[in-house]
Amino acid sequence: MHRLQPGTTIGILGNGQLGRMLCLAAARLGYRTHVFGPEADSPAEHVATYSTVADYTDETALAAFSSAVGVVTFEFENVPASAAAYLAAHVHVRPTWKALKVCQDRIKEKQFFASIGAATPPWRGVNTHSDLDIAIKEIGAPAVLKTARFGYDGKGQAKILAEADTGAAWAAITGGKNPTPKNTFAVLEGFVDFICEISVIAARGQDRNVVCFEPSENVHANHMLATSTVPARIAPATAAHAIDIATRAIKALDLVGLLAVEMFVTSSGAILCNEMAPRPHNSGHWTQDACGTNQFEQMIRAVAGLPLVDPARHADAVMRNLVGEDVNNIDGYLADPAAHVHLYGKAEARPGRKMGHVNILKAKT
Ligand code: AMP
Repeated sequence: MHRLQPGTTIGILGNGQLGRMLCLAAARLGYRTHVFGPEADSPAEHVATYSTVADYTDETALAAFSSAVGVVTFEFENVPASAAAYLAAHVHVRPTWKALKVCQDRIKEKQFFASIGAATPPWRGVNTHSDLDIAIKEIGAPAVLKTARFGYDGKGQAKILAEADTGAAWAAITGGKNPTPKNTFAVLEGFVDFICEISVIAARGQDRNVVCFEPSENVHANHMLATSTVPARIAPATAAHAIDIATRAIKALDLVGLLAVEMFVTSSGAILCNEMAPRPHNSGHWTQDACGTNQFEQMIRAVAGLPLVDPARHADAVMRNLVGEDVNNIDGYLADPAAHVHLYGKAEARPGRKMGHVNILKAKT
């Protein structure tokens, strides 16, 4: 165990709202934080003890950062391999690059799910438009075409409604240019007729102990998470299955920190894994107010070598994202003692920008 003493600085790569909430959780446990990211005036910078604004490829800045912190963790997974390798050579990094890189690539992720015996939607790797035409015949329509890397909140995705109709989707995800990536460029997935989407946030400590928050039921709007609700409307056996998948995944990745696994539940009760993230997740924000501990504190505990605690829930909850102008209509929430408002300190409420969220609690059913 590598236990950090109070007052030690935890380094966080990325400085968005997830980093902000990690910093707040770290401060409560007596740690300082140092965030590193390319954006100035970012949500995490406002609350971190120290901040570096630099590109992830800036080795001089990475060198100063790594010598100033006791451990490095991440608030997002799309850091360049070069930054992760540089840091790993100079400081403890949790989770490790080995775990992170699986989560950067949808194809590696799907192969990983198969390796732990967890089902996914049917899929094919695709590098050219003619690959896509073959794949759509095998998978059938409707289907979703997704870039293998760097997609988020529906970016880099296009739905294909009919087998003959691949041209627009290919143009949409390639921007009209022929891709020449090192790895497979895109993945075609069968469109799942799910009854609901759920996610499980698992935490694993340095002592290898795994604890999971219960599954939340997630609703997306405009390709972005809109609400997460607990309890999810799923059978107890489905919830137990989802927790088992997340537990097996975090163990197989040998990850110290958090793993969020997003899944589709079908009408037969089957679970198909969609994607995973080795960090706090938007669909875990309900834990901040409905549980004795929350995803951010569990992650800090894990990377700091503290024991993880039972994440049992004491209230029913709905987490609602405040997107764009939503943030200007929160007076009702502010007046409601059951509504816990979290704002990210972003000055400009642009359309589609996550500005905050609110956790609305009810007595536990
Ligand atoms: P992703 O970026 O993969 O999480 O996709 C964003 C959202 O698009 C998911 O949460 C689903 O609501 C929807 N979606 C993605 N892939 C599929 C699929 N294969 N079948 C049905 N819906 C999907």
